[in-house]
Order: sequence, then C-alpha cells, then structure tokens
Amino acid sequence: MPTVFIGVGSNLGEREKNIRRAKDCLGSVRGIRFLACSQIRETEPVGGPSAQKKYLNAVWQIETELKPRKLLEHFMKIERELGRVRKLKNEPRVIDLDILFYDQDVIDVPHLTIPHPRLHERGFVLEPMAELAPDFIHPQFKKNIKTLLDELHEDH
Ligand code: ADP
Ligand code: MG
Repeated sequence: MPTVFIGVGSNLGEREKNIRRAKDCLGSVRGIRFLACSQIRETEPVGGPSAQKKYLNAVWQIETELKPRKLLEHFMKIERELGRVRKLKNEPRVIDLDILFYDQDVIDVPHLTIPHPRLHERGFVLEPMAELAPDFIHPQFKKNIKTLLDELHEDH
C-alpha cells in the first residue's frame, strides 16, 4: 500500500487541539492507517502578514489505498470542518494539511503537485520529516531528507 508523508501546520486558535482534531478526523477515514507522527514543534511564520502567531508543525506518515486526489479532497474537507477560511496566501490558518510525498510518485496536475514543491526550502517540514524518515529519497532531487536538511542549513 502507498506510503504518504503529510505536512501539518496550525497558527490560529488552539493550535495543538486543531492538530489533534485533524489527526482524529483523518484517522477515521476508511482506507487510511497512521504509521508514525513526528513531534510537534513551534516555528516562525514564513511570509504572509506580519505579527502572525508562531506555527505548530508536524509530519505524519500514513499508509493509504486512496489515490492522491481523493486524499487531497479529504484534507480540504477536514480543513473546512475545522473552520479554515481560505483568503490570502500565507495567512494564519487553523489547520493546513499538505501532501509532501506519495511514495516515489511525481505528480503535476492542476491543484496538485507532489512532491510538495517547496518542501526542500522549509526547515519546518524537513526537520520533522527527518525524525521519521531521514533516508527517504526525494524522487526529483535524488537526495535523502537528511542531505536536503544539511543543505538547507548550509544556505543559512
Ligand atoms: P499552502 O499549503 O501552500 O500554504 P494552501 O494550503 O492554501 O497553501 O493550498 C493551496 C492549494 O494548493 C490547494 O488548493 C491545493 O489544491 C494545492 N496543492 C497543490 N499541491 C498540493 C499538495 N501536494 N498538498 C496540498 N495541497 C496542494
Ligand atoms: Mg496547504
């Protein structure tokens, strides 16, 4: 069954509770099984309006028989149910669920790009991901997560 890594973030309302609720919702979807969850860490917001609250971020690893599009539909439904309102890019959000990797698949269709196109620039994604799967190979860069994280640190 395909293994999927999910990036999770919240910087509005009761952030930990939002993450917990999203996990419960996703865990109750038929065809999804949780394999591992990283620690939750607090990170500085990137982009968007100034004076935002800090984020809580995590990465989850699941096993699923759902196809990528179907999975994204569930994410958006959960985002809506938890009260996320989409307006501006990078604005504060109750919950953000992103598909980081879907096995080694490379997908680029309207509204869905996998691997997530900015994940290699984001410490708040690579660090929790490295906790779960440091040796996972990025199918486009052909480098593992640990290496991408080292390179990101070198750039700063
Ligand atoms: P971001 O997560 O980049 O801050 P949003 O959560 O507002 O932004 O997502 C905007 C759109 O990104 C969604 O409507 C979705 O269709 C699209 N999208 C493209 N690729 C992905 C992916 N891998 N995971 C989640 N959403 C994606
Ligand atoms: Mg998103």
